[in-house]
Amino acid sequence: MKKKVTWLAGALLGLLLVMSFMRSGQVRSADAADKPNIIILFCDDLGYGDLSAYGHPTIRTPNLDRMAAEGMKFTNFYSGSPACTASRYALLTGRFPVRSGFEWVLYPKSERGIHPREWTLAEGLKSAGYATACYGKWHLGTTKKAYLPLQNGFDEYVGLPYSNDMLPPQHPPIALMEGNDTLQLNPDQAQLTALYTERAKAFIRKHKAEPFFVYLPYAMPHVPLHPGEKFAGRSPRGTYGDVVEEIDWSAGEILELLKAEGLDENTLVFFTSDNGPWIIKNELGGSAGLLRDGKGSTWEGGMRVPGIARWPGTIKAGTLQLQQASTLDLYTTCLALAGQSPPIDGRSVDGRDISALLHGKQDTTLADRPYFYYGPHVLQAVRKGPWKLHLITSSQTGRDYFNGKLPLLFNLETDPSEQYGLSDARPEIVQELMELAEQHKRQAAQEGSFWGKE
Ligand code: MG
Repeated sequence: MKKKVTWLAGALLGLLLVMSFMRSGQVRSADAADKPNIIILFCDDLGYGDLSAYGHPTIRTPNLDRMAAEGMKFTNFYSGSPACTASRYALLTGRFPVRSGFEWVLYPKSERGIHPREWTLAEGLKSAGYATACYGKWHLGTTKKAYLPLQNGFDEYVGLPYSNDMLPPQHPPIALMEGNDTLQLNPDQAQLTALYTERAKAFIRKHKAEPFFVYLPYAMPHVPLHPGEKFAGRSPRGTYGDVVEEIDWSAGEILELLKAEGLDENTLVFFTSDNGPWIIKNELGGSAGLLRDGKGSTWEGGMRVPGIARWPGTIKAGTLQLQQASTLDLYTTCLALAGQSPPIDGRSVDGRDISALLHGKQDTTLADRPYFYYGPHVLQAVRKGPWKLHLITSSQTGRDYFNGKLPLLFNLETDPSEQYGLSDARPEIVQELMELAEQHKRQAAQEGSFWGKE
């Protein structure tokens, strides 16, 4: 009997020791070792052409360039929408914006927000044992507590709950929030990028012994532009360049910390943007490079954005990824990496698991899947393989580049700038894509949103 008690006490002591080691960050449990940490760096209104890695001649982004060189650079990566709110919805739910049941941009007093029945990426990762944090722009509803980050899967939140230009006198004073509370009204925006970066670093340090998810949706380069003191006036590209170079610094800080903490090989970092550049802001807006138009438009410049994935030991350094993918896929992929599946209750989840691509494998089933480009509530274009068909076009500039001619067909591989319309030359492809669009519209209308089912 006595022997049994001693053995039991020994085993308990051993278990306590292992647990204390794990807590102190020395040992990561076998289960946790299989689940990579996930960090999503999410810019606001950064265009396809705004990083030196994507060809910008005067904006210096050495950290992001190195991240691309050490990982995978996507050239056909899409945000879920050309507008802020709808794009964030798509990233966090893996669903096309039409399924959200709310406007494509929410304002401080908008009635609706993310429906409580949506199952966000943070909720999925949290239920897989991840520590979760969001530092930055939320923009998925503020008028009810249920819409805020802490009620949608995040353990921690610090940030502005909507766009940095929604300010008095048209709007109430903007709050810098911590959790569900106001930390400060009308904060100095020049300090936001540094603040979000420091909070993200502290969270990583604190949770390095367990799987963690950090979502860092920067306030900028959305206008108004407020670079930090150390960056103001430094970039040859002007204030826009200053702000992007500060975001590059932020990414560098996080990557350096991962290296210093020995977390490089079990952390997937993904860098992208919520939509294309705000070109109607002239020099204060960014550049879509060789792509047409920008934010608010379903021309390529509105939705095709930089996409950089880094995960040393898994993603082969220097990979150029031409396969079309999107932020919706990040949802499904990150859940899969955490051993989770999207909900199977009949709701559509539109993102696909693209982890095969990250592992350097081919996934032929990805090549021909369609991608749908949404304007406000409306399906405006569809892409399949190299072909893109515009059913409706729009631009914040007010320009109609093809004098009302619709539908417009382009081959995005031979003509990424959408200059040479092929709808007359390839009627059979127009027909095929029209049918795909109709099918999708019917399905989306039939399914509706959770809001419609109250
Ligand atoms: Mg935006």
